[in-house]
Amino acid sequence: MQIANSKIGPAQEMQLNYAFPLPQAAVPIAGSLEHFPVRRIYCVGRNYVEHAQEMGFDTREPPFFFCKPADAVVPVMPGTVGRVAFPPRTENLQHEVELVVAIGRSGSSIPLDQAAAHIFGYAVGFDMTRRDLQFALRDQGCPWELGKAFDQSAPLGPIHRLSETGLLEQGAIWLKVNGQSRQSSNIAKLTWSVPEVIGNLSEYFTLAPGDLIFTGTPAGVGKVTPGDVLVGGIDGLGELSIVLV
Ligand code: MN
Repeated sequence: MQIANSKIGPAQEMQLNYAFPLPQAAVPIAGSLEHFPVRRIYCVGRNYVEHAQEMGFDTREPPFFFCKPADAVVPVMPGTVGRVAFPPRTENLQHEVELVVAIGRSGSSIPLDQAAAHIFGYAVGFDMTRRDLQFALRDQGCPWELGKAFDQSAPLGPIHRLSETGLLEQGAIWLKVNGQSRQSSNIAKLTWSVPEVIGNLSEYFTLAPGDLIFTGTPAGVGKVTPGDVLVGGIDGLGELSIVLV
């Protein structure tokens, strides 16, 4: 028996014949005909003090992470309303509006002063959450996937290139449900800044082009039901609108 050389990632040199085609998850890039192919989705938990408090936590803990599958992304073009299927097995679907960082350069153990060089751009995203399942799993010490990593759990606006936006360190972040304000804060209030998140996360995983990082949500998360229209925005990144169907 031969033992193959193990390597991180798919064997890209080989032209493989796949048994069936597999679509590549991707998000439009603002002001461009290009799309950003999605490799992995990382999310930061409890990264705004007031949201940590509403979840029942009160300390500045080290950042912690969970993941969603790449195909959880629902790309939504500006000026359109994305249709997102209300997920099964929940009585308490909640919205979390977040600044999403798109990675454009690979790296591990990235120093803080190098973090910006790994940023491709930014987007507005919703970390949709089956809160009832998440809390039940959390309280049992179980993984969060059923609460966080379900189908269509990551609606995302277009990615704005860093070269267009500059480094985003402050700016309003907000979300309305059916026109009523639910979340309103500023990305300057992130407990762990974007460079700190990139630095910490890259000590555990090698970041690579195509990775997305949901950086956490401010306070005001709450329940939504089928038919609700969610509109969220971040200064400089436009708005993201979805309807739950
Ligand atoms: Mn979140």
